[in-house]
Amino acid sequence: MRPTLHPHLVNGRFGDPALFVELLHRRDSILFDMGDLSPLSARDLLRVETVCISHMHIDHFIGFDALLRVNVGREKRIRMIGPEGLIEAVGHKLHGYTWDLAHKYAEDLCFDVWETGGAAARFRFKAAFAGEALAEPFAVPGLTLTHAVLEHHGPSIGYAIAEPVHVNVWRNRLAERGLAPGQWLQALKAAVRDGAADDTVVATPGGQAPLGALRDLVSVEPGQKLAYVTDVADTPGNRRAIADLARDADLFFLESRFAADDEALARDRAHLTTRAAGEIGRAAGVRRLEPFHFSPRYEGAEERMLAEVREAFQHLPSMAGHG
Ligand SMILES: [Zn+2]
Ligand SMILES: [Zn+2]
Repeated sequence: MRPTLHPHLVNGRFGDPALFVELLHRRDSILFDMGDLSPLSARDLLRVETVCISHMHIDHFIGFDALLRVNVGREKRIRMIGPEGLIEAVGHKLHGYTWDLAHKYAEDLCFDVWETGGAAARFRFKAAFAGEALAEPFAVPGLTLTHAVLEHHGPSIGYAIAEPVHVNVWRNRLAERGLAPGQWLQALKAAVRDGAADDTVVATPGGQAPLGALRDLVSVEPGQKLAYVTDVADTPGNRRAIADLARDADLFFLESRFAADDEALARDRAHLTTRAAGEIGRAAGVRRLEPFHFSPRYEGAEERMLAEVREAFQHLPSMAGHG
């Protein structure tokens, strides 16, 4: 199966958090957090249509201006989701500038902002970004986004994004049954994808059949899942919630701010150590763990940090004490 989600840490494992996710066969892309975005090209920035913010510490939010700058004067809608306070924070960012020429443009730039608590607001360029009511619910077309409210100093939101299951048709079985391929297969695939019951009637070429009698014509593969969690304290509640959120993810981007030996520092700053990150990734049963947000104090020791995460993730016996 060709993966749909193609993520890239904009600033590597040490720089500001920002995960740029490209989607196969789609022009739009998703950003998880927006620390420094200067490494992204204008072309990449213009593709961002969804932004998921963990919290508004400066290393996760300062890139907003870069996204705003390239989009001013364009017809564009950007959806953002984040913790309580995001609407106010976006409003303050936008109101730091003068927009008296906005009415001269034909194009409208729109930021739709949702807070995980339920509040929502729209900020439109042509309305000089005065906040307006927003009634529609948050959704990313074609993907399912889930979140967990986690503890940092204040709340930090963790995210998981998943594709729907892939339903593939066995062409040889169609041929064996004398069924011509065609538009009806879309309805069959949709019924399977939506979990319809066996007695659901599906139109076939020249007739109809219950879904249960057609299931052997298709195979079902789970869609790809990616989770993103950063800036979280190592508490039992966080560990449980993170493992549930990231359960069975194909890819899990998880902060590992401090080395295993610096547990006291990690506790003081409400962050994870490499070891805690490895253990959480393991508890979640993820396929691949990608640690990031390493503290600059470990610059030059990336290999050591990765090895510590790997050891806890794979549960390798520690070398210490085995000499
Ligand atoms: Zn941070
Ligand atoms: Zn933080």
